[in-house]
Amino acid sequence: MIEVEGLCKQYDRLAAVRDLSFAVRPGEIMGLVGPNGAGKTTTLRCVTGIIPATSGTVRVNGVDLAQDPAGAKRQLAFMPDEPRLFEHLTVMQHLNFVARLYGVPDFAARALPILAELEMADKQDLLPGELSRGMKQKLVIACGLLHGPKVVIFDEPLTGLDPGGIRRMKQVMKRLAADGAAVILSSHMLGLIQEVCTHLLILKNGMKVADGSVAEIQARYLGDGGGSLEEVFFRATGDVDGDGHAAPASAAARDA
Ligand code: ATP
Repeated sequence: MIEVEGLCKQYDRLAAVRDLSFAVRPGEIMGLVGPNGAGKTTTLRCVTGIIPATSGTVRVNGVDLAQDPAGAKRQLAFMPDEPRLFEHLTVMQHLNFVARLYGVPDFAARALPILAELEMADKQDLLPGELSRGMKQKLVIACGLLHGPKVVIFDEPLTGLDPGGIRRMKQVMKRLAADGAAVILSSHMLGLIQEVCTHLLILKNGMKVADGSVAEIQARYLGDGGGSLEEVFFRATGDVDGDGHAAPASAAARDA
């Protein structure tokens, strides 16, 4: 579980994230969405300890990130959208290295099923320079899953994956949640969010516009008729729709 309370991040005079609170519980997959510049990446970088928050608290599986950074980071995995790998380590050597960093015993017994799940079992001896973009992405994800994180955070995980890889990645996210992880998925791909996520957090200008279960947010913005998350997104953010017209807020959304 990850719990964020009153998170603020100030870059010089810009308040990139303002008083943001949310929680993701075991078994939930929370979609983090918002227009460009809404503060999604800043939020993810703060909750993973990559950059310090200006104020607020983050607890990962009960461990306070500010008080025990290593203990909190040990509970989570962050899969960035841009794979960064060591040019001189093979796939298996990457996994061995990460296993040693996290103190994972018998890494091969854990690594092989993860590689198989990601259809990378036959790539064990290849160097990053011999992998495609999608394969590099999968290797980053394999490294992240090795220590059995309780909180798993994906930033645009489908970039560069082929249709088979996309299907596989969706299955991995659902499997992680079913196994009890709290999953955060940041993406502009609202179809993916709609298909995979149980919960939503919508940001705009560094502030929370809405959060809750997908069904709650759909009911709030679309009424009982339901509809697509794309429509929810435009109504919640007050953004223009695909035709360039201001999207009208529903009565339910206005009254909420
Ligand atoms: P996108 O969807 O375009 O990736 P985002 O929601 O991830 O956007 P952020 O990258 O978190 O948004 O940016 C939020 C705001 O903070 C933006 O106004 C951005 O210009 C600003 N910002 C981000 N990183 C920095 C930085 N290192 N220094 C100063 N300002 C920054």
